[in-house]
Amino acid sequence: MKDKRFHRFLHRQIPLFIALSLVPGLGYLFLGWLNDVFTPAFVWYLLIVATSIWGVRIYRNFDFDTMSEQRRDRWYQQCSWFMYAFFLLWVLIFLLYVRLDTYKLHYIAIFTEIGASVVASTLLASDRRLYRPIIFLLMVPLVAYFSMIGEWYGYVLTAFAATLTWVLLHAANSTHQLLMQASHQATHDTLTGLHNRQYFIDHLQKRMNSLNESHEFSYLLLIDLDHFKTVNDSLGHDVGDQLLKLVVARLLQHVPDDCVVARLGGDEFIISGRSFAEREACERTSLEVSERLITHLKETYIVDPHHLYISASIGVSIISGGNADSNANSFIKEADIAMYEVKAKGRDGVFMFNEEMSRRVESHLEIERLLHFALINHEITLCYQPQVNHEGRVIGAETLARWTNPVLGPVSPVQFIPIAEQTGLIVELGTHILETGFKTLREWHDSGIDLDQFSINISMRQLTHYHFVAMVKDLVEHYLDDKLSRKLVFEITESIVAEDIDRVILIMNQLKELGIRFSMDDFGTGYSSLSNLNRLPLNEIKIDRAFVNALSHHEGDRAMVTTILKMAGILQLSIVAEGVETEAQLDFLRGHDCPIFQGYYYSKPLPKEQFAAYYRGHL
Ligand code: C2E
Ligand code: CA
Ligand code: CA
Repeated sequence: MKDKRFHRFLHRQIPLFIALSLVPGLGYLFLGWLNDVFTPAFVWYLLIVATSIWGVRIYRNFDFDTMSEQRRDRWYQQCSWFMYAFFLLWVLIFLLYVRLDTYKLHYIAIFTEIGASVVASTLLASDRRLYRPIIFLLMVPLVAYFSMIGEWYGYVLTAFAATLTWVLLHAANSTHQLLMQASHQATHDTLTGLHNRQYFIDHLQKRMNSLNESHEFSYLLLIDLDHFKTVNDSLGHDVGDQLLKLVVARLLQHVPDDCVVARLGGDEFIISGRSFAEREACERTSLEVSERLITHLKETYIVDPHHLYISASIGVSIISGGNADSNANSFIKEADIAMYEVKAKGRDGVFMFNEEMSRRVESHLEIERLLHFALINHEITLCYQPQVNHEGRVIGAETLARWTNPVLGPVSPVQFIPIAEQTGLIVELGTHILETGFKTLREWHDSGIDLDQFSINISMRQLTHYHFVAMVKDLVEHYLDDKLSRKLVFEITESIVAEDIDRVILIMNQLKELGIRFSMDDFGTGYSSLSNLNRLPLNEIKIDRAFVNALSHHEGDRAMVTTILKMAGILQLSIVAEGVETEAQLDFLRGHDCPIFQGYYYSKPLPKEQFAAYYRGHL
């Protein structure tokens, strides 16, 4: 139980012992003066004072959070010697006073001895190595004293004193066990028996203090199981718990012996490794251990009757000393950032934290913070990219969001849209985009710009928001009419297939009643199955610009594009080729009967007025 609480507890006892000795000690000094043993009593009291001064120094030398393991061990040794010394002094005064003829003094000495034993058995119960020898040290002279009286009552008292010794030891042992249990519970995870987060943070802090002194390196591995939630949700928590236990068994089997493994919570585990003199060796080992874990964790688990597979994402952080203001949590955070990087790159892998990652996280947080004010401050605007048909006539427009912030400058939607999705801000942002888009569509129509279609990108989180359909209805009623709402095309991505597809279909059908059409954006980049796609009430497909871009030099992509075009024909879907930049791309697409083109070859996304001018110029 050599943890923080243990040391703090011992630390707190020191002043108590000093006070319990200095004050009653004066009484003994006085008694010594009355009974002609002033000099020995005075010497004894001087020893008490000297020991107290020593105790104060030990008390002051304690600072758990910055002490290295070695220093803490040394401190504990000193503290133990201090305790032994103190109680030994009380035995000495006992021995001094019971040798005098004044019986009154004997009573006082006997009481003192018993009192000191009770103090030792209660206040030192947290540490066996202290209370056991000290209780013996105090009680054995008392037992001997009674037995030497030589009268029958002396033997009775001897028996009583021996029994009391046993009772005190027993009481201290019981308290000790309870404390150990409580400490175990406070520092361990009940399900897996591993250390818990609190323990690990204390442990890591100690390690860091040691590394600070030795200028060595160590590593942290943060392990998060991939899609563990699915196991819990689909097979139940019992199976989930069993799986976690098996995962832990495997972790313990495959980490080096000198590692400390803890469960941070849920399906997150953390491991700290041994120390290395060289950073390179530390990095190499951390990656080797991670790779080994990834391989072994992936092997089949049998939780009757299920055969389960689970992979893991591991983030690595290298801990080094010499950095005064870093604490245990900051290294865990680094490993966490690295782990999220693995998750973002498709899970099942390992990354080591670097500064670049932390910059990315910071910029992400900055964007997140500023995005909150972007709408109020009118920083979000819309651009419109022309969509052109076979004859070169502008038949449509895609609405694209633009954000220019005074501090960040222009921020790409590729950056801020995902953040808006994560934070839920996309709902508000999306509403603003729809409203602005609808106003533009109305204005254009009123000024004679007649488009066949007007496309708006819709995020999944936006589409599945409970208020979405009602909101679109309201806006349509307010700004558009039947004729104009039939021009609307909502672009969605293949990520919806990961959603509750029946619900998505329901929402899409409700919107279709308003005359709105649907387009599958970035087609070909996702992983959706054709059967799923076929279930969605789609009207249009947008060939992703990656395929269009590769047309000129990739045979495979050419085949992909022609296949998509043929498929669209069979499914009677309209098709837009995105990202058309060159004449060659355009020629190929035209040659394969692609009806609509969008891309820099024609125009970049344009502000409202410029789009109107472009439209008029290409009539
Ligand atoms: P997307 O829907 O695939 O939009 C097409 C992107 O390709 C746009 O980038 C457009 O500027 C760019 N692009 C168009 N033609 C060409 C070309 O010929 N060459 C190249 N290299 N790029 C071209 P942008 O505007 O940066 O938008 C990026 C993505 O952000 C969009 O991809 C869309 O997923 C998302 N996004 C943009 N605006 C919105 C919005 O209002 N709502 C939602 N939910 N997402 C949006
Ligand atoms: Ca789009
Ligand atoms: Ca696209």
